[in-house]
Amino acid sequence: MSTTRAGWAALRKHAPIWQVPALATTVVVPHPDDEVLMFGGLIQLQRSRGVDVHVVAVTDGDASYPQIEAERLGSIRRHEQSEALSVLGVGERDVHRLGVPDGAVTEWEAAVTDAVVELDTAIIVAPWVHDHHCDHEATGRGALRAAARTGAATYFGLFWSWTHTDPERLADERLTRLPLTPELVTGRRDAMARHRSQITDDIAPALLSTQMLEPLDWTDEYYVTGAEPNPMRLQTPSSNDSSTTVVTRRRKPTVSSHGPTAEPRRG
Ligand SMILES: [Zn+2]
Repeated sequence: MSTTRAGWAALRKHAPIWQVPALATTVVVPHPDDEVLMFGGLIQLQRSRGVDVHVVAVTDGDASYPQIEAERLGSIRRHEQSEALSVLGVGERDVHRLGVPDGAVTEWEAAVTDAVVELDTAIIVAPWVHDHHCDHEATGRGALRAAARTGAATYFGLFWSWTHTDPERLADERLTRLPLTPELVTGRRDAMARHRSQITDDIAPALLSTQMLEPLDWTDEYYVTGAEPNPMRLQTPSSNDSSTTVVTRRRKPTVSSHGPTAEPRRG
């Protein structure tokens, strides 16, 4: 594990800066807390520039503590996620909950794709397709498929990778970094504090260790470059008013090519 960490540290050192365009962004999140752990800096940056940020909340994280009844745990974690997103600058209106069962995203990849296509933003961020957790990887694949349909740029966030994925997986890809101001680092920590069920022993022994939370103190947020954008999608709006909606809606997709036929339950 320590070689994994050393390998990532070496890659981080040389990561070039990602100049994020001020364009509407969809953040695809497998579990409550991933929005902070992987994307907390980016969400705040975009919102501070008046850019629309949509969050696709794939599961309610209702299986993180098997000893707690799923419905109760899901309700607690949805509430925590809403509070955390509010700290990051995203209101409930922009949170799209799919209610997919925690641990089963692999079976619902098509639903993830459809939700992201429907939002049709120029930028999509999601967990890396090699982030060592089946829900994270499935969410990443679903987002990547959406990007193939809309022409959006895709960037992947990392969480389990820092401690569990061999950085060799990045051999043919590119790690970039988003520099954060001290205010954004503080905001990310404040948002994480809302996920009490994961970091305190209030309802069950905390799941996230100090080591796992360490990236929250880094002054950069890291992204693996995914799909290259269709250049037409990355043109900045002609208006100088950055608070206006910046992407145009495209036609709706007609069919979903794979996956289960039933609609996911609402969370
Ligand atoms: Zn997760």
